Amino acid sequence: MSNSIHGFQIDDIDGCEFVKSSNIGSLMISLHQDDESFYTGEIHVVYPDASHTTITKEEAQMLIDSGEWMVLLQEEPMKKIYRTYADTEVTMLSTEVKCPYCGNEWFEEDKNDCGNTYTLRCDDEFDNGCGKEFEMHFDAS
Ligand SMILES: [Zn+2]
Repeated sequence: MSNSIHGFQIDDIDGCEFVKSSNIGSLMISLHQDDESFYTGEIHVVYPDASHTTITKEEAQMLIDSGEWMVLLQEEPMKKIYRTYADTEVTMLSTEVKCPYCGNEWFEEDKNDCGNTYTLRCDDEFDNGCGKEFEMHFDAS
């Protein structure tokens, strides 16, 4: 499985993680919180039928280390910005864009077909971009 995280450490749980279990299917795990939102130090496991349980971190780590659980890599959905002719220098046909991740601004040429979505990269060639990709949707207004 190419999109699972090798060597996942249970303390690396970020919010919740999706797990593929070799015998149960898809699970969701998170740090367990009690009724008053205190972390109990245990792991909250939600099963495909929405039933749930808590196990210790050691038990969870053993399931991961043994390969019974594979923690899946979560791809963040790509961010998207919207631009129109009002943002475009018509004589140059360059559209001013701004990276939704880091705020870096620059001009893109010939990316102004109405109704089109372009995938752009916040370039780091001048050391001021973050290298992330995002979508830009262009429309007349
Ligand atoms: Zn950026």
